[in-house]
Amino acid sequence: SSLFAAVEMAPRDPILGLNEQFNADPNPAKVNLGVGVYTDENGKLPLLKCVAAAEKALLEAPKAKGYLPIDGIAAYDKAVQALVFGDEAVASGRIATVQGLGGTGGLKIGADFLKRLNPGATVLISDPSWENHRALFTNAGFTVGSYPYYDAEARGIAFDKMLAALNAAAAGTVVVLHACCHNPTGYDLTPAQWSEVIATVKARGLVAFLDSAYQGFGDGIAEDGAVIRAFLEAGLNFFVSTSFSKSFSLYGERVGALSAVSASKEEAARVLSQLKIVIRTNYSNPPTFGATLVATVLTTPALRAQWEEELAGMRVRIQAMRGALVERLQAAGVKQDLAFITRQKGMFSYSGLNAAQMQRLRSEFGIYGVDSGRICVAALNEKNLDAVARGIAAVL
Ligand code: PMP
Repeated sequence: SSLFAAVEMAPRDPILGLNEQFNADPNPAKVNLGVGVYTDENGKLPLLKCVAAAEKALLEAPKAKGYLPIDGIAAYDKAVQALVFGDEAVASGRIATVQGLGGTGGLKIGADFLKRLNPGATVLISDPSWENHRALFTNAGFTVGSYPYYDAEARGIAFDKMLAALNAAAAGTVVVLHACCHNPTGYDLTPAQWSEVIATVKARGLVAFLDSAYQGFGDGIAEDGAVIRAFLEAGLNFFVSTSFSKSFSLYGERVGALSAVSASKEEAARVLSQLKIVIRTNYSNPPTFGATLVATVLTTPALRAQWEEELAGMRVRIQAMRGALVERLQAAGVKQDLAFITRQKGMFSYSGLNAAQMQRLRSEFGIYGVDSGRICVAALNEKNLDAVARGIAAVL
């Protein structure tokens, strides 16, 4: 019989499966609020002007395609480190940053390295979390648990419970934290709550792994990065995975990074040498194109300014859509307090709708969100807002 005769069919990815269902739906008024992708006021995936300019410059001076170093483009790694941690931290030399295949790649490099460092550690992710966190750390060989995060009744964060779980965790436990714009809930900790988390991580000897996939989508580039700076200032050794998929609208180019904050320059050099082994044995070295674009934009003042403006444009449009969704829901007769929608940050809103209501939204209105109640507010626009509001009002 075939080598593969006993291979079982794996369940399909819930969100990508939703996409297939959406594509197959003949309803001309259908709206896709499932995937985490920013689309503009015309419902189109944007090509940022700064990216197009960097791409044009690159194509006008074509280069031969050699291998990159294992840790990626040096100028890219440095620019990412400066963006995430600040120039002073770069000068300290105690952070090792490697180019990764998107934010997912950064997480995976960190997970594989951690597994070698502390094979018996448990990983804790937020409940709920980005659906790939559990699978990624499980596949890296860890036992993955969770800490309480979402409080459905309070429409916010179960902070006391979260903190209690961190306080109860064994030393060395890896805690995956969303640096900003929590996926899927949209609820972020306040600066005061972050201070408590940092104090607990420090006191309990936990290992923080900050997942930063939406810097610039919450309150601003610096504002959203403040949490990472706070961990740095606390003198902790920790990990940060960075994704530029959303902030540069470069989803398919797989541009990201992993940074490990070490105690000294000498320690960072040893950490870097191990991260390179992880990369070398997984995919040898990263691709050139996307990281070249990001490095060019980040290090060319005019393009950098343009990027910050375009990112602000995406952020402001999302915020406007949150406000507009509240107004349209009220106009459609919804009486409940909707302030939570504008309190949430980033691309997503936990709408509070249950699985049955989300399924009704799909089957009766062609509005596709995740069964958890997560909708992508970054996919709302003037053309679909009314239909979305009417649909939600009808299933509430
Ligand atoms: N972390 C979180 C919290 C995310 O939401 C995402 C993307 N949806 C990622 C990581 C992965 O990003 P990338 O596509 O760059 O791998």
